[in-house]
Amino acid sequence: MRLVLLGAPGSGKGTQAELLKGELGIPHVSTGDLLRAAVKAGTPLGIEAKAVMDAGQLVSDAIVLGMLEDRLAHADATKGFILDGYPRNVAQCEALETLLARIGQPLEVAIKLDVPSELIVDRIAGRAAAQGRKDDTPETVRERLRVYAEQTEPVARHFAQIGKLKVVDGVGDLAEVSQRILGALPQSA
Ligand code: AMP
Repeated sequence: MRLVLLGAPGSGKGTQAELLKGELGIPHVSTGDLLRAAVKAGTPLGIEAKAVMDAGQLVSDAIVLGMLEDRLAHADATKGFILDGYPRNVAQCEALETLLARIGQPLEVAIKLDVPSELIVDRIAGRAAAQGRKDDTPETVRERLRVYAEQTEPVARHFAQIGKLKVVDGVGDLAEVSQRILGALPQSA
């Protein structure tokens, strides 16, 4: 199964992707995790990305695409993948389609986790306390939500236009939401 998980920051994408990874036996590919690993390792790319991430803005499309391409070239991704945090804007959508066509692994479905914004803010506050992410401060969260509405919402519209979008209610306990996602996957899952 080759799928994209969409949803606002704090909608539960990362947690659900981890659950799905166990259920489907395919890797969870999070561009946020790849970037955080590069920041932690202090690579030149990580150093370049850090300030942008801390400000809640998007890292350059070229950097993120390069990282994604490397990750999808690993053997475990030949069975499929769960993309989390990519694509984040319409240009990345087009880059993804081109990349997946080139490697012969076209996307099957995009699942959008739908969570009301009041709940999003609470969830991020909980995550800030639990994980201490630098970009979970109130100002940065506001910026990330603004960037999401401006740049990532059109991605969902794009997938809807090409008939690949499924919207799933993201409110409920983890297992419940996970079952809804599994139920929304195309039959070949
Ligand atoms: P996330 O873990 O998906 O919430 O991503 C955390 C941060 O990493 C974002 O706020 C961006 O600064 C950066 N990031 C993650 N994925 C992307 C992407 N596809 N394009 C650009 N920046 C990204």
